[in-house]
Amino acid sequence: MIKKAIIISVGDELLRGETVDTNSAFIAAELLKLNIPTTGKFTVGDDAAAIKDALFSASMKADLVILTGGLGPTPDDITKETVADYYDLALTRDEYTLKKIQLYFTRSHLPVPAGNEKQADVPKGAAIFENTVGTAPGFGLDTSGNCYVIMLPGPPSEVSAMFEKSVVPYLRGKAEGSIVIKTICCGGIGESALAELISTEISGCDKNTKVATYVKDDGVNIVITSYGAGSQEATNKMLRIRDAIFLKASYYIYGEDRTTLEEAVAKTLIEKKLKVAVAESCTGGLFTAKLVNYPGISESLIESFITYSNWSKVKRIGVDGKTIFLHGSVSEETSREMAEGIARESGADVTVSITGTAGPGGGTSQKPVGLIYIAVTAKGKTLVRKFNISGGRQKIRQRAVSKGMFFLYEQLREL
Ligand code: AMP
Ligand code: MG
Repeated sequence: MIKKAIIISVGDELLRGETVDTNSAFIAAELLKLNIPTTGKFTVGDDAAAIKDALFSASMKADLVILTGGLGPTPDDITKETVADYYDLALTRDEYTLKKIQLYFTRSHLPVPAGNEKQADVPKGAAIFENTVGTAPGFGLDTSGNCYVIMLPGPPSEVSAMFEKSVVPYLRGKAEGSIVIKTICCGGIGESALAELISTEISGCDKNTKVATYVKDDGVNIVITSYGAGSQEATNKMLRIRDAIFLKASYYIYGEDRTTLEEAVAKTLIEKKLKVAVAESCTGGLFTAKLVNYPGISESLIESFITYSNWSKVKRIGVDGKTIFLHGSVSEETSREMAEGIARESGADVTVSITGTAGPGGGTSQKPVGLIYIAVTAKGKTLVRKFNISGGRQKIRQRAVSKGMFFLYEQLREL
């Protein structure tokens, strides 16, 4: 029975940083759906000793080892030969696979390169996984110890097609127990504060449950992982923890699983039949672009102004020139007038304004880089919040957007 997996990504290009190892991320996510957690990953070059080293460590710790890459036709592709050598298995040419490879080329009126013929060599006893996208088949080996070894090609499109068509059926029934994963999406709170809030749930886990927080662009996620003998047991355990977390952190929770913050905002706007309009300065349209990610936002979004210059703030949305002169464009007063101005111009029920200093230049001791004011006007009432955001220009702009989005979400819930 398979309890855990280790993935070995093979390829010099991965070590040079030329190619990002997306295969291992894909494989790990797919394995979880089969109730197999990945407990480690190795990246090694196209080098027999390194592959054997990784295989040795991986097979000591896991009952499933998946290698990806190095099944190509060129002499530097040595994964299969190395694995066969490691387990002392002969390679024999498989006629059916060879015919398939030949067909792949003759269909394109090309001669079969000699290198491609070696892709029809199969380690003794291996299950062959057909490649419907390219030429290199993959393989599944039961090493008759306590470990399964799977070899997959490198190109991501081939990996995903082969995984679905061959690996899933190969692994079906071999996984032990069930895993249930629940993601709770939070905003408006930092990771440490959130972890502190749910510290009892984090520390109260047994060896079959895990609660962890991780930061993402639009907030912090809480991920509950629960193992059980069956899916009902795992689900029940997960639900108990989920409910406890909801009791403590509900204020910060905007969704579950794959919900995005802009989706939560957009759905609330539409559900409550509210019209929205936006005035942005330093975020230059990013906030509106996020809202527009949600298909159907046209029911709510009236318009958005990028009032980047002072002139535009005055001319387009009626900010008083004196306000900017007295308090500056990055100020509570200007931010308030921006949100109220766009409300007046558009007639929207709810408006958002964002103004701030994204840097890297332009900061002063009183108004440092990262100082952001966000105002939300909801049904005639305006609230302004001040944020000090650290990071580079793009980070500051992105984080200003997610802070504004959560601020808007909070106000929408009240309406
Ligand atoms: P290979 O089968 O090792 O010759 O790999 C063929 C191509 O697949 C490489 O040139 C990469 O572009 C891509 N590739 C290989 N390994 C990975 C990986 N782990 N993640 C994403 N792409 C990969
Ligand atoms: Mg390679």
